[in-house]
Amino acid sequence: MSGDQFSVEAVRDHYDRLSGHYRALWGEHIHHGYWEDGESPSGAQVKLVERLAARARIPRGGRVLDVGCGVGGPAIWLARNLGCSVLGVTISPVQARMAAERARAEGLSRLARFEVADANRLDFGAESFDAVWVIECSEHLADKARFVESCARALKPGGVLALCAWLRAGEDAPPGHARLVAEVCRGMLCPHLASMTEYQGWMRRCGFAQVEAEDITRRVEQTWGRCAELVSRPEVRAALRLTDRRTRRFVASFAAIRRAYRTGAMAYGVFTARKAGGRPDGE
Ligand code: SAH
Repeated sequence: MSGDQFSVEAVRDHYDRLSGHYRALWGEHIHHGYWEDGESPSGAQVKLVERLAARARIPRGGRVLDVGCGVGGPAIWLARNLGCSVLGVTISPVQARMAAERARAEGLSRLARFEVADANRLDFGAESFDAVWVIECSEHLADKARFVESCARALKPGGVLALCAWLRAGEDAPPGHARLVAEVCRGMLCPHLASMTEYQGWMRRCGFAQVEAEDITRRVEQTWGRCAELVSRPEVRAALRLTDRRTRRFVASFAAIRRAYRTGAMAYGVFTARKAGGRPDGE
């Protein structure tokens, strides 16, 4: 399933080249929005972060590892709103720089720090964090089970894994679903997507005591209608004509994602899992 088009280098190159555009078009948060009440796109993105933080009961002032931190939106939110001390890691040096500059501009560089690191080889010491926070990064990783294990290792006893991920439908899905997911994966540089059951299984197997998952597809799928609107703007279309084939394929896959959500080929999951040990309420 893997190969050059999904390699770590290809993913790094994608985010190095496009993060400036992501930020210009979609803001500081490179993830889905959560819509329940007519929110603006940026309001909806913050809502996703608020909900994940509340669900995971991220402790105030806690030490958080944000894996696949993008340009820093969620890490800076955790630092500003919960006083967390956050280490954000990304495969993209451009993103790490953008995130650090943003934290500095907000006066939060003491709390929110950023480094380049490969999520396939997380090595920040065992039992180091109160929370490991992962929004839409594990999609890019070939060995997701091993990644979940490394998150478990990095957590202190009683620590929490908070993870949002694009999912594929379960085993019994019709073949058309798999083809659509494969098209999304090609455009979005994902070796494959996993199902909700697979993520839950990996979490249970590596010693998480409470594993909770929710399918929030209907709350987040609007994201792609908004993205389609953005890329249909004349100035964006003109810019796309000048860009390379990979970027055009990436943008073309937005339509496949909308179809995948609509037909049930893909879903969006939010997971929280608490490592055994620590205080009973995890705080
Ligand atoms: N979590 C961020 C960004 C999501 S976009 C947000 O919510 O805003 C996906 C992120 O995963 C990008 O930051 C990308 O650099 C990161 N990523 C992808 N593969 C990675 C890898 N192997 N190691 C570290 N980060 C990776």
